[in-house]
Amino acid sequence: MKNIIAIDGPAGAGKSTIAKSLAQELAYLYIDTGAMYRAVAYQALQNDVDLADEAKLAQIAADVQIDMRLQDGENLIFLNGQNVTREIRLPEVSAAASPVSAVAQVREYMVPKQRELAARGRVVLDGRDIGTVVLPQADCKIYLTASLDERAERRYKELLAKGLPADLNEVRQDIDERDYRDMHRETSPLRQAEDAVYLDTTGLSIEDVLLAVRHLVEA
Ligand code: C5P
Repeated sequence: MKNIIAIDGPAGAGKSTIAKSLAQELAYLYIDTGAMYRAVAYQALQNDVDLADEAKLAQIAADVQIDMRLQDGENLIFLNGQNVTREIRLPEVSAAASPVSAVAQVREYMVPKQRELAARGRVVLDGRDIGTVVLPQADCKIYLTASLDERAERRYKELLAKGLPADLNEVRQDIDERDYRDMHRETSPLRQAEDAVYLDTTGLSIEDVLLAVRHLVEA
């Protein structure tokens, strides 16, 4: 069985749903690296920090305490002791997380934390640069994607299910812009690792994707 499983891909590809289910099945720890960048972005927004002020964003990344806890099957995110699980999914935080995560110094603080969490083994991580930068030695790398329309639809339904306000067109635009920025940034851009398995999940159900991923993990 693989010890470190890395799932990367664009926004709304189903990475967190799959990573969480897989971790549960295997009794592995699920590490949501996007939530860490979202937490930094949330803190920046709370403090009215200009998102172009890289030094201030780096300072926030250095100072924040981010904790993850699994409770009743839900992955809870705590920022300096406060439960921000719901807040970090708000559209304004999604939009802010992308420019915040493009700051090299922010990543310099987050990546070691991710490696530290993964060091215990038996982990599933999802993100953008896990297989390429954070843990290039991962035992199993998957690049999960789907068409923009389908990813927008999935994210839209997910937000509604969580009782959060959402507009399909806005969600599609947000995803598209984030992907573009994530793929074209200088530091750790989103791209498929050479040794990652490419999985296009357009038209597939969660069960289908989970089955395919499980095969890859067990192979
Ligand atoms: O995965 P999620 O959509 O929650 O990630 C939010 C944002 O955090 C992404 O748009 C991306 O800019 C950033 N991110 C990143 N590297 C990761 C995970 C997320 O840059 N490993």
